[in-house]
Amino acid sequence: MVKETLVGQTRAARAGIIDAFDFARVGKEASGSLPLARFGRAMEGLPLQPRDETGEVRWVVRGETGRQGESLLHLHVRAAPVLVCQRCMEPFVYPIDAHVSLHLVKSEAELDNGLDEAALEADDGADDIDDAPEKVVGSRHFDLLEQVEDELVLNIPYVPRHDVCPDTPLKTSAGPAPDEADAEKRPSPFAVLEKLKQKH
Ligand SMILES: [Zn+2]
Repeated sequence: MVKETLVGQTRAARAGIIDAFDFARVGKEASGSLPLARFGRAMEGLPLQPRDETGEVRWVVRGETGRQGESLLHLHVRAAPVLVCQRCMEPFVYPIDAHVSLHLVKSEAELDNGLDEAALEADDGADDIDDAPEKVVGSRHFDLLEQVEDELVLNIPYVPRHDVCPDTPLKTSAGPAPDEADAEKRPSPFAVLEKLKQKH
């Protein structure tokens, strides 16, 4: 058996491979960053991403043992991918700041059992649904980047759109009538009087 050194583990963690159960048991934390371009599945159909640090995904993972002794990983993913608005076709930056809690189970079988359990938990109250950690099969060589990519996929809108497209309102409206525009520019005689009064 090869015993991993601390240095080896740190390097592995940086590459996104962690001993998930060990992380949970000891309460370990690791972080890293990678260019968005490395996440091919999440970037499919998106424009080229910036090559500087603005085009990077940053992640932090923290292990924890839950109240019932369950192994948990808390993952925080931040990125700012460039998307193309499907209304005006202009690119825009879409900030992602996502947290997810993963409940590590030991086998696929436990994953299936977990579904019933999750359904029961959901009956307790609607608020619990979002908070209930997602079950995943943990391992000693857990691919964290797979989870990071899942978060990217989940958080990137399928049809990206500006809340308000920058040019649309000006292009579509005919604009004020010329007379109205002039009237707005000309100061009202009352406003001029007010200014004169303030001077004295
Ligand atoms: Zn737009």
